[in-house]
Amino acid sequence: MNKQEIQEEPRLSLDESGQNKKCYICAKSFNFRKKHICRFCQNAVCSEHCQKSRPLENLESQPICDLCFQEEIRAELRAESQNHIKNLDEEFKDMQNTNSRLEREHFEKTAQINRLEFEIETASSTSNTEIEALNTELDVLKSQNSTLQELYRKTKEKLFIIKESEGNASENLSRVQEELEVLRRQSEILKETKEGLIVQLDKINGKLKGCLNIEHVNKLLCPTCSFKLKEAAGRRIDAPSILENPSICMSVDDERESIIQSVRDMKDELTKQSSRPGEGGGCWII
Ligand SMILES: [Zn+2]
Ligand SMILES: [Zn+2]
Ligand SMILES: [Zn+2]
Repeated sequence: MNKQEIQEEPRLSLDESGQNKKCYICAKSFNFRKKHICRFCQNAVCSEHCQKSRPLENLESQPICDLCFQEEIRAELRAESQNHIKNLDEEFKDMQNTNSRLEREHFEKTAQINRLEFEIETASSTSNTEIEALNTELDVLKSQNSTLQELYRKTKEKLFIIKESEGNASENLSRVQEELEVLRRQSEILKETKEGLIVQLDKINGKLKGCLNIEHVNKLLCPTCSFKLKEAAGRRIDAPSILENPSICMSVDDERESIIQSVRDMKDELTKQSSRPGEGGGCWII
């Protein structure tokens, strides 16, 4: 290809006889210059324009003219560029593929996201409704709970009051029982006292009866005093008859005192009536 391009160029240094007399590049005569043949374009060039060498087919380091060298370099660069372009093309295709794949994935993901968003929204609204229902239920339970607590508190108070009143009742009962016991003991003591008093009264009655029995007294008096006593007794006082009856005269101290007083009065009366009291031996015994 290079050869054809070069051949097409009207730079050939061939003279009319077809001999290479001048440098193909600088057109200087070979009269005083060494002539080189470029193995790539087969043109004759001077030393100045054939300083480089390149491998050609199976041969190494073949002389090459500057034009062919530039062509070679250009071709190399072109090939390199084409290779690079090809690589870029491939990369671009890969990128396009990747891009379309990513776009597809993007659409899929977006669709998925939309679906998920919709699901989330649905779930959220559902859960909101559920939460509201649960809140309402919770409120009801709370109010029930407070009612129950109130009931529990009242019941507890009632129980406490009942327990307290039970305690009071049992306390009262035991107090009443104690009081009854005291009363019973007092009653026993009173009974004993009464019995003792009755015995004492009997004794006193007996003694008084013995002392104040007018017949008994009369026996102890002289005939004069006895007569006077009988006279006084018959005339006046019912003391002896009272004395005869211990159930009347010994019932209480007052009556006893009055009886004794009556007897004293009787004695005074007798003394007044006697001109000489105590005559006949002074036998007044009361
Ligand atoms: Zn030259
Ligand atoms: Zn050449
Ligand atoms: Zn007498």
